[in-house]
Amino acid sequence: MSDTEQCLFCRIGRGEIPVTIVAETGDCLAFRDITPQAPVHVLVIPRAHVRSLNEAAGTPLVGAIIELATQVAQREGLARAGYRVVFNTNEDGGQTVYHLHAHLLGGRQMRWPPG
Ligand code: 5GP
Ligand code: ZN
Repeated sequence: MSDTEQCLFCRIGRGEIPVTIVAETGDCLAFRDITPQAPVHVLVIPRAHVRSLNEAAGTPLVGAIIELATQVAQREGLARAGYRVVFNTNEDGGQTVYHLHAHLLGGRQMRWPPG
């Protein structure tokens, strides 16, 4: 079986695993995280399988993901109060699903430094 057949977020992108979709473009999909860490916790993924931010460098995908995250933040009413967009990358970054994704978090005061 290939990486993309097994990959959780590829499967979500193909509609094989139900999620609550909040926005879609030709290249990206935004859906609610199954274990929300804030009142608004949305994941933004490219439809194409890319392992992490490291592999996305030099492609237009990161810009497309941030653009969609920003649109969702606006739509969810977060823009004025603020929000956080995070790409956990590899082990030290806390990445657990190896398909590129941004976390859009908002609806509460974020802390710094992050855990
Ligand atoms: P990471 O830890 O790789 O930065 O983020 C992976 C995220 O995917 C986690 O926040 C986790 O809760 C979320 N997640 C894992 N499995 C599923 C799922 O089946 N559905 C949804 N909606 N989110 C998931
Ligand atoms: Zn994938």
